[in-house]
Amino acid sequence: MSEANQGAVRQLSHFIDGQSAAGVSGRFNDVYDPAQGRVTARVPVANTAEVAAAVAAAKAAFPAWSEAPPLKRARLMFKFKELLEAHLDEIAELITRDHGKLLSDARGEVMRGIEIVEFACGIPNLLKTDFTDQSSSGVDSWNLRQPLGVIAGVTPFNFPVVVPCWMFVMAAATGNTFILKPSERTPSSSIRLAELFMEAGFPKGIFNVVNGNKNTVDALIQHPDVVAMSVVASTPVAEYIYAEGAKRGKRVQALGSAKNHLVVMPDANLDQAVDALINSAYGSAGERCMATSVAVAVGGVADELIERLAPRVRALRIGAGMEPDLDMGPLISAAHRTKVQGYIDAGVEAGAKLVVDGRGHTVAGHEEGFFLGGSLFDNVQPDMKIYRDEIFGPVLSVVRVPDLASAIALVNAHELGNCVTLFTADGAAARTFSRQIQIGMVGINVPSPVPSAWHSFGGWKRSLFGDHHAYGEEAVRFYTRYKSVTQRWPDSIDKGAEFAMPVAAK
Ligand code: NAD
Repeated sequence: MSEANQGAVRQLSHFIDGQSAAGVSGRFNDVYDPAQGRVTARVPVANTAEVAAAVAAAKAAFPAWSEAPPLKRARLMFKFKELLEAHLDEIAELITRDHGKLLSDARGEVMRGIEIVEFACGIPNLLKTDFTDQSSSGVDSWNLRQPLGVIAGVTPFNFPVVVPCWMFVMAAATGNTFILKPSERTPSSSIRLAELFMEAGFPKGIFNVVNGNKNTVDALIQHPDVVAMSVVASTPVAEYIYAEGAKRGKRVQALGSAKNHLVVMPDANLDQAVDALINSAYGSAGERCMATSVAVAVGGVADELIERLAPRVRALRIGAGMEPDLDMGPLISAAHRTKVQGYIDAGVEAGAKLVVDGRGHTVAGHEEGFFLGGSLFDNVQPDMKIYRDEIFGPVLSVVRVPDLASAIALVNAHELGNCVTLFTADGAAARTFSRQIQIGMVGINVPSPVPSAWHSFGGWKRSLFGDHHAYGEEAVRFYTRYKSVTQRWPDSIDKGAEFAMPVAAK
């Protein structure tokens, strides 16, 4: 965005059937620059007719696209990857302006999105299936993975590029057509993705974007031609869409909220554990579903851990994400900052020890921005609200436990289960931990263990509703239906009607 345009309020659109479509409902949401605390764009809210137009475009595109050879889809993905690389800085800037995260962090997010596209470039190989020659006399069997149809995606504010890429890239690569409903708070970069997707040469209608809010999502849920939904949201929203979609016979995967623990054993390398806690608790202002929000200090390691963490939290460099050499940007909105501050108040009231207080932090030159300093709590108890709830802000709670078994029991008792990390020098402890922990993504001496694009991403318990994790081979399964084919030809049919249960070989 040029300096001259920085004061102007941009008017955003939908993207339907291969082109930008101005909103006609007359309703808009304001999009803020969180570092300035001012409105920078207006995004339209799609009504039922606009959702129906997007679904109709996706439905019309499906027959030809689902029949396209996977190699053709892969070649277009290669082109899309090139365009993402060429526009990396521009997309990262759009993320930072809407979201507030550091530009370096936003670049990392786009790179992660490109990795999903790179994985999807291998779709001909990924769709290869099993074949059994002579499964019975003169009979061969194999299976097919066929696309589902029109799929809708609902995404959160905190990863406006990579989370949509988990969805539309894998859905399109497997032969489906897609409608994205991005977060109304960070829509700009998702719309740009749709434009670049068209520029790559994908046929119109394969990837559509309808902006909006709950009503727009409800219109997608209720539309009979939407056969599946991919959702990443807070747990109440994920659970709602999962239940409403499943009730209507749709296939739904819905990833939800997180409360991620990082367990520090007495034998851990404390320098590394402290670095890990600082970047995973305060990076992106704690607004990551893989952020660590609880440090579990095992067997007397807590005092030294707090002693080392506190000065680092006080020294966090906080400012506008577009500026260099910072650690953390603002929160997404004034309302969210008030909510996070409310949690800090509640922690103090409940008797936890507030070692570093980030409330009331301001940034010179950005007095209207939604900034909050980093906070650190000690002596947090499992029955406290600050322990139970996802805070989604720069607040780290330290819980003290006597041993590894108590740490495992603590983590397993929490209703959310996105990711967890153990810091230790003991291989046996690490093995026990990874086998016994009831969490979808586990790191051993690795904080925020986001799986690579060719593995799959997802939590357990109330962090994921549905059967499949996101991206990787799990996505190939989610976005396709399994079909088994058993075949023989007349010259191998040598007997008449058979009434007993056929068996493979006698
Ligand atoms: P949110 O639940 O407020 O909104 C997510 C999406 O759902 C948005 O597109 C929004 O418009 C829509 N939505 C909101 N309320 C709705 C309703 N009542 N009915 C239907 N749709 C509705 O979440 P957010 O604040 O944008 O994002 C942060 C949340 O997302 C956190 O809880 C975070 O843990 C979670 N998240 C999870 C993952 C994961 O992989 N598990 C990844 C990123 C974010």
